[in-house]
Amino acid sequence: MPINLTIDGKAVQAREGQSVLDACRQNGISVPTLCHHPDLTPVGGCRLCVVEVEKMRGLIASCTLPAGEGMVVHTDTPKVIAERKFVLEMLLSDHPNDCMTCEQDGDCELQNHVYEYQVQWPQHKGKRHSYPIGADPNPFVFTDFNKCILCTRCVRACAEIQGRNVWGVGFRGFNDRIVAGADVAMLEAGCESCGLCAAYCPTGALTDKPSRGKGRAYQMKKVTTTCTYCGVGCQFDLNVRKGKVVKVTSNRQAPVNGAALCVKGRYGHEFIHHKDRLTKPLIKKDGAFVESSWDEALDLVAQKFAAAQGDSFAVLASAKATNEENYLIQKFSRAVMGTNNVDHCARL
Ligand code: SF4
Ligand code: SF4
Ligand code: SF4
Repeated sequence: MPINLTIDGKAVQAREGQSVLDACRQNGISVPTLCHHPDLTPVGGCRLCVVEVEKMRGLIASCTLPAGEGMVVHTDTPKVIAERKFVLEMLLSDHPNDCMTCEQDGDCELQNHVYEYQVQWPQHKGKRHSYPIGADPNPFVFTDFNKCILCTRCVRACAEIQGRNVWGVGFRGFNDRIVAGADVAMLEAGCESCGLCAAYCPTGALTDKPSRGKGRAYQMKKVTTTCTYCGVGCQFDLNVRKGKVVKVTSNRQAPVNGAALCVKGRYGHEFIHHKDRLTKPLIKKDGAFVESSWDEALDLVAQKFAAAQGDSFAVLASAKATNEENYLIQKFSRAVMGTNNVDHCARL
């Protein structure tokens, strides 16, 4: 049974169990969030998504509030706006004013909200954190917990999607901070360097180490592609700048893997422009490989195939090839080479 409620004077419907936040977004009503992410369990931690609900006391986090029959919700009253500005000002009171050099600039959810709500950097004279920058030796994830807003998206992404439970919140009060395991290095805490925590981090607290300084998000052209490493068929976005792939980012629409990737898919792309890559065919002559033209190489292969027709020939197809390519391989083997000697690595 759909639930009927009113949001900002508009009559809308929600599904049983749906949050007020989701009902808002489904109906084109924008509500800001930081700790919330649609892929992760809502926790109502940052309080940026607060709304007013008639006949309910105080301001309520809409991400954890189930939509109720007859509810009357207001998302942009002066009280709501003031609360959101206060939340952002509090976050900035212990945040480095570092957007100019920050890796996340241009792709930072905190920065976007601060701009949207026109919050000024507070002249805060109180205590600030000063954590060592880049302290974790993980080769792929760069840490700067001075920029952490304790939203716990990294904790939930690692636990709920990657299943590694590396991150947690340690210590108490002002000393609260994100820790790996019992406050050890990420790798020691069981991290497999998938980079998912960095992908879900809304600020520059966790970023991809190999692509640091290689371009802002708005300088990259994103090209969606399928990973070539194995047969799972994960998809992601190549981030291309000046004709070169400089980074891989998750593409949440990927049907097989969503935002998740393994360390090879996310970080193992340097081979694309590596100087050692072969760009011309090599033919073995007198025991040594020598460069040749494509015409010479293809003629040689055709000659060898012609001499090997029948059951002395076999093909091993590959999970790294597309279905269409694998189809062509078996067709070629049966129709051209005259043999049913066809196998595939996935059968092993
Ligand atoms: S994390 Fe965001 S707000 Fe903080 S310095 Fe970096 S870009 Fe600026
Ligand atoms: S890189 Fe992956 S495994 Fe390691 S902490 Fe982040 S999400 Fe967890
Ligand atoms: S490291 Fe990033 S994702 Fe994790 S709690 Fe801090 S801001 Fe949130």
